[in-house]
Amino acid sequence: MVSLDDILAARDRIEGQVLDTPVAGSANLSALAGGPVWLKCEHRQTTGAFKLRGATNAVARLGDVAGVTTASTGNHGRALAHAARALGLPAIICMSRLVPANKLAAIRDLGAEARIVGESQDDAFEEARRLQRDEGFALIPPFDHPDVIAGQGTLGLEILDQVPDAAAIAVPLSGGGLLAGVAAAAKARRPDICIIGISMERGAAMAASLAAGEPVEVTELPTLADSLGGGIGMGNRLTFPMVRDLMDDLILLTEDEIAAGLRHLAGEGHVVEGAAAVGAGAILAGKLRSDGPLVLILSGGNIDPALHASLLETT
Ligand SMILES: *Cc1c(COP(=O)(O)O)cnc(C)c1O
Repeated sequence: MVSLDDILAARDRIEGQVLDTPVAGSANLSALAGGPVWLKCEHRQTTGAFKLRGATNAVARLGDVAGVTTASTGNHGRALAHAARALGLPAIICMSRLVPANKLAAIRDLGAEARIVGESQDDAFEEARRLQRDEGFALIPPFDHPDVIAGQGTLGLEILDQVPDAAAIAVPLSGGGLLAGVAAAAKARRPDICIIGISMERGAAMAASLAAGEPVEVTELPTLADSLGGGIGMGNRLTFPMVRDLMDDLILLTEDEIAAGLRHLAGEGHVVEGAAAVGAGAILAGKLRSDGPLVLILSGGNIDPALHASLLETT
């Protein structure tokens, strides 16, 4: 598992390479939730999401490698590309032919090679594994890795510095690297703090795995919270047991509830992606209340501007 000491070491290691993001109060959400609500603005992080913390910590811990690789084209791929460039290491982000052009361009703009292989995410992952096996690259996974989890945990330390009397933290949940890290940090400091995971109802692999008592595969369905999609890995080693042991509550949201959260946050001046809107969505849906200072993690802001605009038009 990942300890408080690992997370404190990660904080020292990544200092100066990631931003300490601001916390903002929300009068509207506080009124709706029945108590104080704070927004941890990680959508303002460099590369637009918290994943830079884990990727930077993992890359900084590497010994002698030819470079780094992964098969994620979303926020983890961006974060890894940025972290590798900062340390002068080559990065190859593997992706299938189906990846949209804007995501490909974003990776290339960060100085990484975007390697197109095959027709599916599995083919892309196979190429990343080949680079690891045959070419001396380190494969940095998006969540199930101790250094990644420790890096995400620095967000938990920061939250307690900024909101020392926090009673609960609401965490967008997918593979569980964010929740595992934040919970490990926060509960080590404040064992009574409540950690609430939030996922979408459609195809949430961690929720299904917790219900089954072991990692299971789910059918992936399109969701507005695209950064919360994907499996947790059938061979999951760390995040499944950590989320199982450290999470106090799990909330699932419909697509409409996520969209309502996104619209509400836009009205408060926060442009976030669907995954980052789940805390606000849960409050608006009456599924989450504040019984003492509640911190919502706005985990990322990488949303297609045209999609964001069209969501604001539909009411
Ligand atoms: C990756 C991601 C998440 C989920 O993080 P996990 O560690 O996979 O649970 C939530 N929000 C955003 C914006 C993300 O990029």
